[in-house]
Amino acid sequence: MGMFNPRYARLFETVRIGPKTAPNRFYQTPHASGMGWRAPKASAALRGIKAEGGWGVVATEYCSIHPSSDDFPFGYLSLWDEDDVRALAKTAEAIHAHGSLAAVELWHGGFHANNRLTREPLLSPSGQRAKFIQPMGARAMDKADIAEFRRWQKDAAARARKAGFDIVYVYAGHDYLPLQFLSPRTNRRSDEYGGSIENRTRLLREMIEETRAAVKDDCAVALRLAVDELHGPKGITHDGEARDIVGVLAELPDLWDVNVAGALGNDSKSARFSEEGFQEDYVSFVKKMTTKPVVGVGRFTSPDMMMSQLRRGILDFIGAARPSIADPFLPQKIREGREDEIRECIGCNICRAANNESIPIRCTQNPTMGEEWRRGWHPEKIAPKRSEKSILVIGGGPAGLECALALGRRGHQVALAEARRELGGRVLAEARLPGLASWIRVRDHREHMIGKLSNIAVYRESRMTAEDVEGFGADHVVVATGGIWRRDAIGAFGEEPLSLPESDKILTPHDIERLAGTAQSIVIYDDDHYAVGSALAEMLKRQGHKVTYVTPAPVVSSWTQMTDEQGFIQSRLMALDVELVLSHQLKGMAGDQARFVCVYSGRERDLTCDTLLLVTGRVPDDSLYRDLVHRLPQGTVSAIGDCHAPSHIADAVFAGHRFAREFDEPRSELLRRERPEP
Ligand code: ADP
Ligand code: SF4
Repeated sequence: MGMFNPRYARLFETVRIGPKTAPNRFYQTPHASGMGWRAPKASAALRGIKAEGGWGVVATEYCSIHPSSDDFPFGYLSLWDEDDVRALAKTAEAIHAHGSLAAVELWHGGFHANNRLTREPLLSPSGQRAKFIQPMGARAMDKADIAEFRRWQKDAAARARKAGFDIVYVYAGHDYLPLQFLSPRTNRRSDEYGGSIENRTRLLREMIEETRAAVKDDCAVALRLAVDELHGPKGITHDGEARDIVGVLAELPDLWDVNVAGALGNDSKSARFSEEGFQEDYVSFVKKMTTKPVVGVGRFTSPDMMMSQLRRGILDFIGAARPSIADPFLPQKIREGREDEIRECIGCNICRAANNESIPIRCTQNPTMGEEWRRGWHPEKIAPKRSEKSILVIGGGPAGLECALALGRRGHQVALAEARRELGGRVLAEARLPGLASWIRVRDHREHMIGKLSNIAVYRESRMTAEDVEGFGADHVVVATGGIWRRDAIGAFGEEPLSLPESDKILTPHDIERLAGTAQSIVIYDDDHYAVGSALAEMLKRQGHKVTYVTPAPVVSSWTQMTDEQGFIQSRLMALDVELVLSHQLKGMAGDQARFVCVYSGRERDLTCDTLLLVTGRVPDDSLYRDLVHRLPQGTVSAIGDCHAPSHIADAVFAGHRFAREFDEPRSELLRRERPEP
């Protein structure tokens, strides 16, 4: 590593965790990668990159201790047998290769597991309905079940030690089995495992002691505890029973990893619903009750905020899942006084969506996330250029910015032309919506890094025509002119175009400034189902308009179930008294009447409005590209990002990055995939 920045020296102190010593205070807390046991090489490479980037402790994702807790088809790990030991040893090795400690999050989901792969009955403290949609009941564990369960944890801990891990978890968070025993919501037992705090913590105490016995003195034992379930007094609260629990277990684990549960969405709240450091009020009591080190999270990306956590005695370790995904090299950049280069997480939760969709992780800010093994991409290194070609990138949105930056890093002469004065493209508009201000970091980071490279020239207020491009004379032209919100109402449900009248009553998100200074009755029709429709509803309602939100889906912003935001979004619109009309599809508009039809009953319904705002999808803004394809020599013009295929910002950034990585490279192979042994 390069020079050392004394201002943040405390972040780089070593810290003892039981028998182990962490090289610094940066702790990558467990986070899902969507990969799980099906992708051991890709998982190992991902965690190895985190260690290389300076995270002193790097943890795995949830790792099942026994087939009675399987989360198929989601990406989870397992330590059920010796095959699993061999597979996970690769991850421990990859982390150790950079001098970091490897932690494994042993997990049993109880009635919150899936068990669709193993078809084992679900387990629970007192008998419960399965948490997920399948119509299954979870049996109430008897004494023999509890004894078995303790043995599974012990055996898995011994396997974790064999696989080379330094820190082994006891995991009482996120509504999983040990938390189900702790919480009065789900533990209604009348034996020695239910009732009083002492009884409800009994299993956890046994798990910690037996895990320790299993790993001998070779590993530290971490306790991950949800200090507030956010269920009010029905459950564990940070100013109620959590204090008693921490009180009785205070010195038992070697490390406390504390957070807010029940559902994962409360812990990894998106920026739309939480600020950096949002868990502090919940977890700050823990350090006062134990001498053991404490780690907590809060989407920390600012080193000053991290220092303040240490100085004020809130945390000993700066825990991070998302900030380590957006920038695996965050610790190294702080260490070297390059904190201005941190690629800050924007809090969009696209990474969470990967787990919920059971696909490999991806990240809006870091296009290399999840691609470390399968494409061989490194977040900080990129191959030097293979040719002396100069490149003109047209459009300074996420795709164009990332493409120009990555091509510049390869050493190419790059010109970036943007029609507007401000760079950023679509994120300029999206970051103005309520709760989405941090999305501007997609632009800010790239604009800042481009500014450091003398081989990238940026031309603002330069709307390029095909003649301009021909005259410019670049060897290759990349068109990243983005997308346009549709006016024909084609969306996820509406497959055919509607012949809507040419009317200034029908707007798209491009036109919202026309509503400024008016007080209107607005119907927002959301057949896009992601962030923009509901965020516009929130904004316009707050501005004093009468807002009705209509969608053919049964819930508001339905895809945000994947980003763990849907419940929060719908609650917010309801709290604001936005009228919701769900399961209704747009059919047409006549005068001030917008006509909808119920997708279930077929019944029609008219809504009167001053304005119908269509948020249904986008089409490529590719007229310049199509023009250039005819004018320029074959193979010298490419379209990327929304101009090629409209999608969310993460895909635009990815497209820009991929183009730069693959430019002038020999035809890259298809994705590497991990295959089952033949
Ligand atoms: P993406 O998400 O693919 O990056 P955006 O819509 O965010 O797409 O960005 C496209 C950018 O391209 C916008 O900033 C827009 O102003 C710019 N742009 C569109 N047409 C031209 C043009 N002819 N010349 C220069 N810039 C353009
Ligand atoms: Fe942060 Fe979004 Fe990346 Fe997740 S996907 S790490 S929330 S920027």
